[in-house]
Amino acid sequence: MRRAVYPGSFDPVTLGHLDIIGRAARLVDELIVGVLVNSAKTPLFSVEERVSMLAEVTKDIPNVRVEAFSGLSVDFAKECSARMIVRGLRAITDFEYELQMAQTNRIMAEDIDTLFLTTNLKYAYLSSTTVKEVAFYGGDISHFVPETVIGPVFRRMAERKQKGKF
Ligand code: ADP
Repeated sequence: MRRAVYPGSFDPVTLGHLDIIGRAARLVDELIVGVLVNSAKTPLFSVEERVSMLAEVTKDIPNVRVEAFSGLSVDFAKECSARMIVRGLRAITDFEYELQMAQTNRIMAEDIDTLFLTTNLKYAYLSSTTVKEVAFYGGDISHFVPETVIGPVFRRMAERKQKGKF
């Protein structure tokens, strides 16, 4: 069984993430998308909400499941009996950080490899942060996130603005 994990914050899931998920799923028997609980930043969505949005947008890919996890990606991979960690590489700025993480993970767990998929050019400059910034100012995010995610992003933004949390 060739199994991989794809860890990240997914706050919220973007079309860039979805592109990586679809392509990675074709390379393995099972892909487990791991949604990180203990993100350093205060997320826009709770981990349960992020898991449920990801489950919805990946429901047509049979060999993908979505789980929450906390702690190290290598530990999550081990728990899932996965030998690969999938990461997406966007612009050059991702490269140094991702290389550092991959080397560190390799020292911690030498039997787990990191598999990098280069982004689809369409999404090379897309990040969850950009989506939140555009949505904050009421911009069109339909080119950036799956359709089912648009409503929740704007609703949460409106709630946050009302509470004066921005
Ligand atoms: P993290 O907080 O760990 O960076 P993210 O949710 O931002 O988590 O991203 C998870 C993974 O998806 C990372 O490997 C990141 O490089 C990749 N990724 C994010 N956006 C894109 C994109 N537009 N195209 C390809 N890969 C992406």
